[in-house]
Amino acid sequence: MQTYQCYINGEWVEPATGEYFESDDPFTSKVWARIPRCGAEDVDRAVEAANNALTKGDWATMHPTQRGRLLNRFADILESEADHLARIEVQDNGKLYAEMRGQTGYLPQWFRYFAGLCDKIEGSVLPIDKPDMFTYTTHVPVGVVAAITPWNSPLLLTTWKLAPALAAGCTVVLKPSEFTSASTLEFCKLAEKAGFPAGVINAITGFGAEAGAPLTEHKGVHKVAFTGGDGSGRHIARAAMNTFKRLTLELGGKSAQLVFPDVNVESAARGVVSGIFAATGQTCIAGSRVLVHEDVHDAFVDAFLNLARTARVGDPMKTDTQVGPVTTKPQFDKILSSIQMARDEGAECVLGGGPSERPECGQGRFIEPTVFTGVDNAMKIAQQEVFGPVLSIIKFREEEEAYRMANDTDYGLAAGVWTQDQGRMFRAAKALRAGNIWTNCYRAVSYMVPFGGFKSSGIGRESGQEALNEYLETKSVWMDYGPGPANPFVMR
Ligand code: NAD
Repeated sequence: MQTYQCYINGEWVEPATGEYFESDDPFTSKVWARIPRCGAEDVDRAVEAANNALTKGDWATMHPTQRGRLLNRFADILESEADHLARIEVQDNGKLYAEMRGQTGYLPQWFRYFAGLCDKIEGSVLPIDKPDMFTYTTHVPVGVVAAITPWNSPLLLTTWKLAPALAAGCTVVLKPSEFTSASTLEFCKLAEKAGFPAGVINAITGFGAEAGAPLTEHKGVHKVAFTGGDGSGRHIARAAMNTFKRLTLELGGKSAQLVFPDVNVESAARGVVSGIFAATGQTCIAGSRVLVHEDVHDAFVDAFLNLARTARVGDPMKTDTQVGPVTTKPQFDKILSSIQMARDEGAECVLGGGPSERPECGQGRFIEPTVFTGVDNAMKIAQQEVFGPVLSIIKFREEEEAYRMANDTDYGLAAGVWTQDQGRMFRAAKALRAGNIWTNCYRAVSYMVPFGGFKSSGIGRESGQEALNEYLETKSVWMDYGPGPANPFVMR
């Protein structure tokens, strides 16, 4: 059993409450770590440390080129520890080792990309329309950032916030999910090794109401960067608005995959599988609704089921496992109740539909890859995020109808388009109201490409140059170099 501490002002400290909670391994269901149960007092200490680091000392006075070097050093250390981080993530989260090893090996690229941008945050001189006036803009760090993350991809989503925030010169208080805090604390050990000054990166752990809420309400926090459910997002946005904090929200999704009649159904089925059963469907971009043209509907369903039946479910550490456990017990129960809801609505369950009984699943929390056909887009199973390995298949006849159904949801995070028709590729990209459109591919992300959602899927973008702007404020500076005093009673 490992006991972690929280990381405040460059020190590993006990929570003020002196209390800890347990974290289990979703594959073995065994408790393996004790996590500090932080509260408002720890939040105060972390926010104070972050404000001190922001306004005085090494970080506040560091030249942006130096800042870039520090981010690059962190990237090097992350690279050398990628395997260790991947193993922690598998143990705490149940994600597949094969995927995690790729992901933790890719994280340094975010820090390198944003390291390169540190000394390219340029203002401009404006060709001002007033005589004897010099006017320019500068971009300054937004301040102390509260980065609040969910359990499904702890390090990736922490990185998406931390890398641009540090590049902008901000200081950060991390608050990982209560279900998967360990990898974020391990991350902080590496940040400490890289040499970030005390207070630049802090991590407090604990529950949403006890540790997250005081952070979003704190006057010393200037921006909240949140990824999680839309219910919590709504709460957090309201709390943040009380003090007009800057805000980015990455929330849920009910992303559609559109399968047009000109496709090779086998290839489309392979793509759609990766969008829903990879990561056990526990991703915000899960392609959980498939809209299939009626001409290829039956052939597609056959191809999809043939493939899905071969999915290897089991130990996430094994490199040939394809579907791992469900990360949390509440999520396990929620997925089962969504499956029951779909049955009650009259959808036909043609694969899976319950917990896995396979011997290779041991004591873990597993749900069989599940497929419903005969789904109507108005059903709750087609509208509500399940966040599990549950796919709904819906038939369409006309191209326009497919776009209409794809957009007919509160969310707008992603969409997949499967077609060989070039005109249709562009028409679909234009018609779909979602922040990420993948054509003949799915679930691709990069440090260079902005990621975010329309509608209830969120506000703002992570990754790419746009992400940096989310952590900057613009300052406009006016200088009058005229010979005499201006008329004080006239606006200039
Ligand atoms: P969640 O909203 O329950 O929790 C996320 C984080 O918010 C946790 O750290 C939690 O402790 C904290 N929190 C909860 N209530 C809070 C409050 N009132 N004040 C402050 N903090 C609070 O989400 P989850 O169950 O951990 O994650 C699943 C959700 O995340 C899904 O809806 C999924 O779609 C979404 N998600 C979105 C993206 C994206 O980029 N759009 C990525 C991954 C996950």
